[in-house]
Amino acid sequence: MTTIETHSPAETEQVGAALAGRLSAGDVVGFTGGLGAGKTVFTRGLARGLGYDGDVTSPTFALIHEYRGGRVPLCHMDAYRLNGADDLFETGFYDYLDGGWIVAIEWNERAGVAPAVAVAIERVDDDTRRIRLEGRGY
Ligand code: ADP
Ligand code: MG
Repeated sequence: MTTIETHSPAETEQVGAALAGRLSAGDVVGFTGGLGAGKTVFTRGLARGLGYDGDVTSPTFALIHEYRGGRVPLCHMDAYRLNGADDLFETGFYDYLDGGWIVAIEWNERAGVAPAVAVAIERVDDDTRRIRLEGRGY
């Protein structure tokens, strides 16, 4: 387990980009942490670290965003509205995993997936976040 404190969104993105180097196809990154914690900012860093240059925004309404073109394609899910395993199956989650994607899940407590890397983000104050990483050498 590793705990890192960041003091700007850019720093949180850097932590995400560093994690990207440890991931491969079929890995799940599971986020916990409330609204505005920085889950989407961190995922933007993941995408950047994989070599994806486009927009990375909250998938709250679409449920899933797909970022292709990096070293491994990244699927960005918001599980906030999911209720258990059947809902997760409906999203195509397992198709992404079998299809060689990395899947980043915000609100993973709602999806209940055992991730390769668990990322828990806590808001300390306006600009400070405490990020706890677990798995893949963290
Ligand atoms: P979530 O996806 O967890 O709801 P977002 O990533 O969408 O959260 O938003 C995080 C918000 O917190 C952004 O407005 C961002 O600018 C702000 N922020 C301030 N400091 C940090 C930091 N150290 N790391 C990440 N985000 C931060
Ligand atoms: Mg978000």
